[in-house]
Amino acid sequence: MYKALYRKYRPQTFSDVIGQDHVRTVLKRQCETGRISHAYLFCGTRGTGKTTSAKILAKAVNCLDLQNGEPCGKCSACLSIENGTATDVLELDAASNNKVDDIRSICDELIYPPASLKRRVYIIDEVHMLTASAYNALLKTLEEPPEHVVFVLATTELNKIPPTILSRCQRFEFRRVPARDIAERLMYVSRSENLMLDFEAAMLISRLADGSVRDGLSLLESCVEAANGGVIDKGIVASQLGLAEDRTMVKLFKAVASRDILACLSLLDEYYASAKSLTVLLDDMLAAVRDMLYVKQGGKAEGLMSNSDAAEIKELASSFENDRLAYFASVAEEARNRLVGYAMNKRLITELALVKLCDARFSDSPQALAARVTALEKALASGSASQSVKPAPAPAPAPAKPAPQETPHKKEPAEKSPETPPARAAEPEEKPFEFVSELCEHLSNRSDIRKLIESSELGVQGGLLIIHSNNPFAQSILSDVANAEQIGAAARAATGRDYAVTVTGPRVRESAPSLVNELQEE
Ligand SMILES: [Zn+2]
Repeated sequence: MYKALYRKYRPQTFSDVIGQDHVRTVLKRQCETGRISHAYLFCGTRGTGKTTSAKILAKAVNCLDLQNGEPCGKCSACLSIENGTATDVLELDAASNNKVDDIRSICDELIYPPASLKRRVYIIDEVHMLTASAYNALLKTLEEPPEHVVFVLATTELNKIPPTILSRCQRFEFRRVPARDIAERLMYVSRSENLMLDFEAAMLISRLADGSVRDGLSLLESCVEAANGGVIDKGIVASQLGLAEDRTMVKLFKAVASRDILACLSLLDEYYASAKSLTVLLDDMLAAVRDMLYVKQGGKAEGLMSNSDAAEIKELASSFENDRLAYFASVAEEARNRLVGYAMNKRLITELALVKLCDARFSDSPQALAARVTALEKALASGSASQSVKPAPAPAPAPAKPAPQETPHKKEPAEKSPETPPARAAEPEEKPFEFVSELCEHLSNRSDIRKLIESSELGVQGGLLIIHSNNPFAQSILSDVANAEQIGAAARAATGRDYAVTVTGPRVRESAPSLVNELQEE
């Protein structure tokens, strides 16, 4: 009789359960020492080994020849549980049996000793589906369970379990199995089944399985026939699982390139509605970013990891600077790490990541800053940025108001404290600082500060040198006392004049190109 791969390769011992080291170590030790709890709660996403571990536990507490806490798999107890003939081990699916009667009938049986095994084990799957009255019936039995009874409750939705039940169970959390562990399992199964699976294909299946070994094996099975006895490679997996036509990444990064937040969010909406995993989406984003960086370095189409078309990836890559791609990677990775585990608002986390991709101002990471500096440099080079940042040639058809010539050597004491923002009404009007490039020359040993200054707008007002930046990161770095002093010294060296340095938000001017506009025009 044909047996599905995931059934055939279902783990028989705790050691076989992959990716759940923390769970299996404790369970094994409890079985070995005989200190078995009366109620366990296994929680975690589907396919992570909850019911499999429950069955192994049922064997281990009944095994006649326990091997270091593991069931032997050969004794009459192990065999009867394995082939489902043991009447003392009862598997109940609360999704279909949520009636009180079923639970009551369990409670009624409890007083009788097990028929043939040492302990009676009740495995209740999807326990969060029980009705309130069924919970109450269960609660009574959990309060004073007889010696010979073990309950194993399993759930994918821990948050739906009443606290009264939680407090009576020993809880184990099953984690999503890392893609690499699933891939290794798939490779092992393929070798045992004489299937030719290449590792890239195994990794692709694992990513789609999203932490579930069972899903991974089922996906592998659906590819076996398509390969028709040949090698199961990435192409076969992609076409078999309907990935070949996937243009999600191309569409997404085109929207990011045009900084179209709405388009990004509606793509996410589409993706989400088709019930695909957001973790996979973020993995695909990372793969696409990696591919764009790869083709930018001259990588060949064969080396691409995403399922996107090579020509399209190449075209997309030309829309982004390396810094910006590095920033994308950091945003996608951070979001992905937050999704793994038990994050409740996965969609929100993904949405925020997309917004950050479109607009680096929503992120304060160093990568975001680097990407913005690069964008600004590009804008400066193309002459589209604010003229006041450049040393303006005297008769240039430049700023809104032509700045009156400054007299560099006239000493004027700085009376105001650097903290005081310029009072526009009473004070002389703020003028663009005209010696930015000279000032930067005197900061040759501080390229970090120099970059930040070059991406800011500088003005003078009396003895005050005002640095305008709308970037909180730049503001905090530049206003650091030591840095401000160094900037003041550079300004003195450049102009022969003493300045008190102050750092503030963007300069308010009408029709002045803001950093946002500059970034958008890029
Ligand atoms: Zn045994």
